[in-house]
Amino acid sequence: MSKVLVIGAGAAGMMAAVCAAANGHEVHIYEKNEKFGKKIYITGKGRCNVTNSSSVEDLLQNIVRNGKFLYSAFYSFSSDMTIDFFENAGCHLKVERGNRVFPVSDHASDIIFTLASLMKKYHVHEHLNTEVKSLYLDKRSVKGIILDDKKLVKADKVIVATGGLSYPSTGSTGDGYKFAKKAGHDIIDTFPSLVPFNIKEEFVKELQGLGLKNADLRIVSGRNTIYHDFGELMFTHFGVSGPLILSGSSYLGEYLQNNKIKHNGKIRIIIDLKPALTEEQLDVRLLREFDENKNKVIKNILPSLLPRKMHNVFLNYADMLPEKKINEITKEERTRLVFCFKNFILTFDGFRGYNEAVITKGGINIEDVNPSTMESKLCKNLYFAGEVLDVDALTGGYNLQIAWSTGFLAGSSV
Ligand SMILES: Cc1cc2nc3c(=O)[nH]c(=O)nc-3n(C[C@H](O)[C@H](O)[C@H](O)COP(=O)(O)OP(=O)(O)OC[C@H]3O[C@@H](n4cnc5c(N)ncnc54)[C@H](O)[C@@H]3O)c2cc1C
Repeated sequence: MSKVLVIGAGAAGMMAAVCAAANGHEVHIYEKNEKFGKKIYITGKGRCNVTNSSSVEDLLQNIVRNGKFLYSAFYSFSSDMTIDFFENAGCHLKVERGNRVFPVSDHASDIIFTLASLMKKYHVHEHLNTEVKSLYLDKRSVKGIILDDKKLVKADKVIVATGGLSYPSTGSTGDGYKFAKKAGHDIIDTFPSLVPFNIKEEFVKELQGLGLKNADLRIVSGRNTIYHDFGELMFTHFGVSGPLILSGSSYLGEYLQNNKIKHNGKIRIIIDLKPALTEEQLDVRLLREFDENKNKVIKNILPSLLPRKMHNVFLNYADMLPEKKINEITKEERTRLVFCFKNFILTFDGFRGYNEAVITKGGINIEDVNPSTMESKLCKNLYFAGEVLDVDALTGGYNLQIAWSTGFLAGSSV
């Protein structure tokens, strides 16, 4: 039996603690907050999208960064096993659209309660309101931790599950990066991810509150298309948000990270406002509208083409006066209108901050972590689990699955 210390009582830390304790170890979990799982409370808008009920291959498809590293973890603890784990502990789950899994009660607190009950059942020693200051290292091995009050706690194994940097009010303030660095690990640059965008054009403020259900969105840098998909987006007072943008942010972050670019004012967001029509079809449609409304002005035919909130902004964007008579619109002007419908271009002006980011991209370099055990390759008896690692996924329950699987693997490997 070993003495195991787990730093952080989020999803990954609690799972690791339960697994290590169920295997007979003496486990102590340290959490700087006054309660466990503060971030879990706000997941899935308070309902907690626990996992995604899909095969390991499907899970891996939704990992944006370092999916291969998670292969062993997902096979050791798949989403089916996550579902069984909670069901067997009395927390009933249901599957919704897109295979997203939630507690039947729709209360994220049930997930925390289940983990807390299991920690009790397996006699995990709980240390709330206790901040870990640093690792206690001896040569290339971890021997314990040092607490906020300078107290040294010796141990055989330490699991770091301190999360990333997003929503710092939940306790995720990047402490694990400092710990890992001190143990010799390299930290891959971090970015807020699954996060809205700031947009340079002032006119987005006028569009605030407008949602587009079936937008076609491309994120481009010069001739490179970084992301292209359909879905829902929303305009806000600072830029754009919504599911399509959050997914796009993950791929854009990846692009910026891989190319070592901060952001250079050259990233464009191109929205196709008429995705169901080709340019030719749209031109025919405009010609028909123009023929039927020869004596009207352009602003009066827009309601059949665009949401009202967009009219002024769009005409400004297309450089056309709202009072322009239809019968005075030239072929060139019509071609420009078609282009503007198909290419409503915004300039990316940076991600919103960690306060609004669902996850953190970047983190502890996975090259130096054993994917079959989550143990450090650089420092003996040191393990990592969860968002602190340089792995991340799209929305849909995949990020929590990363926490459950890596937490399970670390807790079972100690
Ligand atoms: C608003 C929001 C909604 C989300 N919704 C979903 C969703 O529905 N489904 C999904 O799959 N993912 C969702 N996520 C992402 C998911 O919550 C995270 O990926 C996951 O919680 C990460 O778990 P973790 O245990 O690695 O880290 P965290 O949950 O960040 O836990 C780390 C813990 O460590 C503690 N800690 C840190 N430093 C120290 C220290 N020095 N000493 C002691 N304790 C310390 C922190 O207080 C914290 O409790 C959401 C995230 C956010 C922000």
